[in-house]
Parts: sequence; structure tokens; C-alpha cells
Amino acid sequence: MKNKGVYIHVPFCERKCHYCHFLSSTHLEGMGDYVRDLVGEIRLYQEDLSGATTLYLGGGTPSLLEIEDLKTIFAALGKRDFTEITIEVNPESLTAGKLEGYRALGINRISMGIQTSHDRHLVTMGRGHDFTQAAGKVALIKASGFENFNIDLIYGLPGQSLKEVGEDLAAFIGLGAPHISTYGLSYDEGTDFHQRLSAGLLEPVTDDLDREMFALIKETLEAEGLMRYEISNFARPGYESRHNLIYWSGEPYVGLGPGAHGHLEGLRYENHRSFSDYHQAVVRGERPRGSVERPGDEEFEYIMLNLRKVEGFEIEDFNRRFKKDFLKSHEAVLGKLTLAGVIEIQGGWVFFTDYGFDISNEALVHFMG
Ligand code: SF4
Repeated sequence: MKNKGVYIHVPFCERKCHYCHFLSSTHLEGMGDYVRDLVGEIRLYQEDLSGATTLYLGGGTPSLLEIEDLKTIFAALGKRDFTEITIEVNPESLTAGKLEGYRALGINRISMGIQTSHDRHLVTMGRGHDFTQAAGKVALIKASGFENFNIDLIYGLPGQSLKEVGEDLAAFIGLGAPHISTYGLSYDEGTDFHQRLSAGLLEPVTDDLDREMFALIKETLEAEGLMRYEISNFARPGYESRHNLIYWSGEPYVGLGPGAHGHLEGLRYENHRSFSDYHQAVVRGERPRGSVERPGDEEFEYIMLNLRKVEGFEIEDFNRRFKKDFLKSHEAVLGKLTLAGVIEIQGGWVFFTDYGFDISNEALVHFMG
């Protein structure tokens, strides 16, 4: 049977980080209504939840939810055979009591945003914690018996040096996380960072430095046994995120909560981003979807997602799914990309080389129908 995921978006944060483009509100007084609406939405998806193997509570800041709220949400989800349940947390709102509550609910994976070990960068980014506090919360996670946890690292911060990224890596490795997700900073429209960049108040790192930073990250983490298994994710063997692998394999997932994305029965949908539209749809007994579409080019989507993984995809799987011979139908482009050292075909699998990952956007264009 295929894997299937459930994603719940918790769109609340105590403050807005200056680089953040995720849907999140700082009006925490709305959390009670949100939980009620979410439970209503979950009821509309009971059949689709059957067979789900992973659950991911993301945000926003899911650790702002009280354990009682989580109990209500888990009760609405019903008894499921999730093999992996992840909750995203931030250092400020995580407590020993919450960790105990998570374990009691069957949550078995924690993901914490720390981003950098340098407090001056944390201040620029508008984060609400310093590194000492974050490191203390990692110690608490471990002391609470969670061995499966992720920390997020952001690189390419304005004014950041390669040496500082090296120090971040040393500090993060010291925390003992078996999974590290890395993100190159982007200046998305609508963020405070984007405004400051446009006003000339922030100086982004150059493309060359950005590449050097990622090369250092890859080399350092892999030397420590944290292997790259997706473009920007590293894990010790056995600690890869099963939920995220569902996204990257093009497998189905139910998305719940305002602004959540879902992928069911070949359709991709995005829930209403407006809390009021979301609420009204749920009250009417309708799935609160703001948009639904069938991917225009399903083959391309499959190739694009699966090539994010270091292992790539199995040619037989492509052939079964699309009822055609991948090697024949893509003969010309494969010839070109293998010759250029961008793609490799080995043992029935197709995957990017390291160089291919570096130029993945340009390389993927060749697969467009
Ligand atoms: S905590 Fe995460 S979701 Fe919330 S504002 Fe910061 S980056 Fe965005």
C-alpha cells in the first residue's frame, strides 16, 4: 500500500519573524476558534484519513497549542496507525510538561527552528530566543526521551560569513540532532526582510558565497554521518523524515487548517488562507478549499519531486505509473544530461549528481513536456 500523510497547519505565532512568508497570525486569542474549526474540518475528511501513515503538525508554531487542544484534535482524528507523528516547536513555548504531553499522545518526532547559533543574527531575524535558550530546549527534548528530532538551520543571512556558518554547524552538531534541515535565506515579498532589502538596508550574501556556504554544510554534515537525502535535508540513516518523503515521492496527503495544501486523488488543493472564509466553509459543512487543480503535467511533477531525493526514482515505478517507457520517452534529454554529468542512471534508478543538484532548476526545465 502507498504511504499517505496528514498535514495540519497551525497558523499562530507569538511574533512574526522578519524573513517569514508562512501563513501565521499573532492574534493568539483566535486559537480557540481555530481548534473548533479544525475539528469540524477533520470530520469532513474521515474517509480520506484512513490508511494514513504519518502526521505532521506544522506552522506557525504548533507548540503554542495546549496539550488539551492537542487531545481534542487527536480525538477528532480517531485511532490511526501513524508510524511517525511530528510536531514543530519553537524554543520559547516548549516546556517539559508539553513534551510529556506529546509523548502521551504518541508524538514521536520533534522539529525545532533554531536557525543559527549567533545571537546577533537571531536578533536581525526577529527570532524570540537566543542560542543558549534553544540549546537548553534541545537538552530538554533529549531528556524527555525523544531521540528522533530535527533542527532547522538557515544560511545566507545578511552579513553572515562563511566562518559563522562553520560555527553554526559545529554548534548544531554539538546538539546531537539526528536530522538537520537547511534553508538558504530567501527574501520573499511581503516580509520585513524584503522591504528592508528593497530599501537598501540589508545586504544579501553573493551567489558565490551562498554556494560556498552550502558546500561547507554538505561536507561538514556528511563527515559527521548526517547524510544528504534530499536537496537540503540531512539525516543519520533511519532518521529521514517519512512525512516529507511522502511529499517528495508525489504520494497523497490530506492538508488541514487555514492555508494548508493537500494532494488527494490526483488533485492538489490549497485551503482558504482567510480565517473567516475557512471558518464559514467549515460551518456550512464544506471542505474549506480555496483552490483545487489537477497538475497540468503529472509526469513532470513526478520527475521534479522525486529528483529532490538523493536516491531519485525507480524507472519501473515511473513506467508503471505513466504506462510508458521512461528511458525511451526521454532518450534525448537523458543522453544530454548524463553526458553533462547532471544525471546518473544506475541499477534501474535515475538521480541527480552533486553537480546536478547545484543546477537542478535549469536541469529540470529539460524534462518539461
Ligand atoms: S516562528 Fe516560524 S512560522 Fe512563526 S513567524 Fe517565525 S518563521 Fe514564521
